[in-house]
Amino acid sequence: MATYGSPLYVYSRTDIEDNWRQFDQAFGTHPHLVCYAVKANSNLAVLNVLAKCGAGFDIVSVGELERVLAAGGNANKCVFSGVAKTVIEIERALEVGVRCFNVESASELQRIETVAKSVNKKAPISIRVNPNVDAKTHPYISTGLKENKFGIDIDEAIDLYKKAQNSEFLDIQGLDCHIGSQITDVSPFLDALDKVLALVEQLNDQGIHIHHLDLGGGVGIDYEGEETIDIQAYVDAIISQVGKTEIILEPGRAIVGNAGIFITKVEFLKQNSDHEFAIVDGAMNDLLRPSFYNAYHNVLPINQNPTGITAQWDIVGPICETGDFLAKNRDLSLSEGDYLAVMSAGAYGFTMSSNYNSRPRVAEVMVSDTKHQCIRKRETIQDLFAQEKLYGY
Ligand SMILES: *Cc1c(COP(=O)(O)O)cnc(C)c1O
Repeated sequence: MATYGSPLYVYSRTDIEDNWRQFDQAFGTHPHLVCYAVKANSNLAVLNVLAKCGAGFDIVSVGELERVLAAGGNANKCVFSGVAKTVIEIERALEVGVRCFNVESASELQRIETVAKSVNKKAPISIRVNPNVDAKTHPYISTGLKENKFGIDIDEAIDLYKKAQNSEFLDIQGLDCHIGSQITDVSPFLDALDKVLALVEQLNDQGIHIHHLDLGGGVGIDYEGEETIDIQAYVDAIISQVGKTEIILEPGRAIVGNAGIFITKVEFLKQNSDHEFAIVDGAMNDLLRPSFYNAYHNVLPINQNPTGITAQWDIVGPICETGDFLAKNRDLSLSEGDYLAVMSAGAYGFTMSSNYNSRPRVAEVMVSDTKHQCIRKRETIQDLFAQEKLYGY
């Protein structure tokens, strides 16, 4: 903290590498590509570490694509997801040669075909189907139910595949699904796989053969001591059912979530008649998950404080919102000036941060063994309004 200041994100390079390799190695010799979902943490240094491991990438915007390229990743290992790819995004993705577009609607398929035709290329595509399974996760991060905006009803997919089959400018590569995030039990994944495999068979009957199956991301992590998925068992269950078909997975959270922490400093302790607040320098603009999803993050003192005040603290930020909290009712011994580590903050932490309340975004640091390096400078006050201009009368 002396070097980098507070608040701060810190990521472990070794943990990121180990987590990715756990997925990669679980497949053994089965054809596969583990595409890290960039939106979980898109810092160039994080992407670079993964690119060096040989990772593929799951991207959802041209901004993420350019980040991957800038970090040394290969376009031909990128799958392009997202419900509303623009013409410019499709053009750029075709220009650099992404591995596959995961198509989310009939209109989008049409748009991809039109753009491919205009640049005289064949666009590699996969249809993202919605298998209508309940991922039993938070409703905001559940994506595989009929009521969600994602994917195409599994019953309507065949017609789209037929359309793609007849196009000179579309090249059917695969079939895709992604049912949600922070899933801690394999059964929804296996239910989705059953439905997807039934569709593959129907497609085969129509003479449409797919080269890969993309089963999306969503593998959950341990935030509060919960049991989660055994990756080897999950991968074994997939391999046992798919013959020789290549498998693509898109884990995000499972690669970076537990490889990062958020460090924040206790500014003030404030005790009301029935609530104890530790007001810290980090806030919902830095780490949104508690406010947005009511998500739980473990909070640990960085130095045990024998002289602190022991109570059940609500850890809250300086922002003018009642929803601005990082944790509630935590038994901790605290003094003003203490540093706290908010655990499991490597995924959907910095990437969801904002400048709300005109707070500069925090610095990010990567550590490995005994070394540490800044991988994103803390924003300055000038950065906050560098793009703004007075209205000219
Ligand atoms: C968000 C997302 C992922 C990654 O989800 P995690 O829960 O972080 O593994 C993968 N694929 C798609 C299409 C996504 O939208």
